[in-house]
Amino acid sequence: MRLLIFLLLALPTLALAGDIRIGILAWLGEDTAQTQWQPLGEALSKSLPDHPIKLRYLDLHQLEAAIAAGEIDFVVTNPGHYVVLEARHGVTRIATQLIEPGQDSAHAVGSAVIVRAQRKDLETLDNLRGQRLAAVSPEAFGGYQVIWAELKRRNIDPENHDFLPLYTDYPMSRVIDAVRNGQADAGAIRSCLLEQLIREGSVNNDEFRVLSPQGSDSPCQSSSPAYPGWAFAAAKKTPEALSREVMIALLSLQRTDSVLHWGVPADYHPVHEMLRGLQIAPYDFLREHRLASQIHRYWPLGAAILVFMLLWLAYTLRVEVLVQRRTRELSAALSARDELEENIRTQQQQMEHLSRLSILGELSGTLAHELNQPLATIGNYAHSLTRRLNAGRLSNEAVAQAAGEIANESERAAQILESIRDFARKRVQPRERRNVVALTEESSRLFRGMLARAPDILLNNQLGDTPSDVEVDPLQIQQVLLNLLKNAVDAHRTAGDAGLPIRISLDRQGEQIRVSVRDHGIGLNEDARKHLFEPFFTTKPDGMGLGLSICKRIIEAHAGQLAAEQPSDGPGLSVSFTLPAACP
Ligand code: ADP
Repeated sequence: MRLLIFLLLALPTLALAGDIRIGILAWLGEDTAQTQWQPLGEALSKSLPDHPIKLRYLDLHQLEAAIAAGEIDFVVTNPGHYVVLEARHGVTRIATQLIEPGQDSAHAVGSAVIVRAQRKDLETLDNLRGQRLAAVSPEAFGGYQVIWAELKRRNIDPENHDFLPLYTDYPMSRVIDAVRNGQADAGAIRSCLLEQLIREGSVNNDEFRVLSPQGSDSPCQSSSPAYPGWAFAAAKKTPEALSREVMIALLSLQRTDSVLHWGVPADYHPVHEMLRGLQIAPYDFLREHRLASQIHRYWPLGAAILVFMLLWLAYTLRVEVLVQRRTRELSAALSARDELEENIRTQQQQMEHLSRLSILGELSGTLAHELNQPLATIGNYAHSLTRRLNAGRLSNEAVAQAAGEIANESERAAQILESIRDFARKRVQPRERRNVVALTEESSRLFRGMLARAPDILLNNQLGDTPSDVEVDPLQIQQVLLNLLKNAVDAHRTAGDAGLPIRISLDRQGEQIRVSVRDHGIGLNEDARKHLFEPFFTTKPDGMGLGLSICKRIIEAHAGQLAAEQPSDGPGLSVSFTLPAACP
């Protein structure tokens, strides 16, 4: 029972004793193949009556699977496929097909690249760069691989995207359709197919052209060299005696049909060469081998590059870490510096404040000194009024004049106090544009009002027509002039003649206007002149030695200079200050 079931299951794959099972590549579809190859089956049946001939029409993969499974004894296939089967399954050719009687079996199969006749831009295979090429499939020998090899020889390779293959699959007439309807610019077909279709009437004679035609002695146009024809090969397990029988039958066939034209087995070496060049089956291992050999050849270089990259990466990382560390240190140093600067600024502000307070201390010391002048003037006018009243000479004009001067002086005293308060408040003194001549005259007049027996003050104006305006705090400049005039009177008095006149000169020193107060007093030796502007330098018993140091500060605050010199034309002293002339 078990044996029966086994036999039933194995029936489709087991040949009956004496059967000759032949697998045929159906490259134009099974129906066409049947029509085409039936005569061969019948002819062989006649030649080998003891062996029923079983023909199977299979595509490339089915054919290989049938060989592998031992389902067929012989295979009829194209040259490229034969080479693959030979390499993979040990099939052995026993005959090679001849297209024409008497043809060289080694040069029977080629490929043609067809284009539509009106495509004038396509003349040779070189024109296929960038074009779409229809073909049956990448595994089709005459339908693709032969043309691929030709194009590759011209450095046009689909693997570099030099042209775009468009695979239509079998039957090969689909390639012609693709070119006809414009899906493809060109089509790769087995040579002689075009001529056959023209003969049958399915293609017009002037519809297509063949690119780079060669082999003019051949009846068919071809774009490639000719390779051996199809192979009739025996499977590895086929008994040698059977192979010999079939071979003799093939070579003895009556040549009435092309499928019956078989010659001695050709040399398939050119096919091997072509497939090796393309590095496709059965030479596809070369691609892997190439990769492996490249690795084997270049691994030291690769390793060196890898080591270099790792070192470079390590170096980059280290540099990055160092940069980050330095950046951190730098920003810490910068913030420390900022903090230090902030401290210094704060300390400076405190010192300025202290210095201001100390100056304020000085000023408060001289306050009495400064206020003394207006108060003395007020006192003088008040005494004068009293004297005139007692003498019965008090006129209204005198009262009005004295009252006016008293009011002026009290206002002046108030301004002195105000300016000291401003200074303490760190307020900038207001600057006014004043004429220096008028300012000097005003100060002289004021000075003379302050003293009971005031000397004459002579004004020597050498400014002429030059602009004589200055941008000043008038009160402070007045204060300086009064101070210089008072010192001049003191020097006259010490010299014994308080009534000597004082001369004020005004002249131009470049962009500066110079005001000089010249007296004929005791003068000052060179050593004393060095200390003249220092605070608390005084030669007077009741002096404080602050007047000139304050004057110096005021003049310098006005961008001028205070200086003292021994006059060249006689005794006494000349103390002068400069002020920048205001822009006209
Ligand atoms: P003080 O008048 O209170 O002494 P100053 O600062 O005004 O303070 O003057 C300082 C000193 O400069 C005076 O004591 C005096 O010795 C000297 N001095 C100033 N002006 C003259 C001058 N015109 N002639 C001689 N000596 C002067």
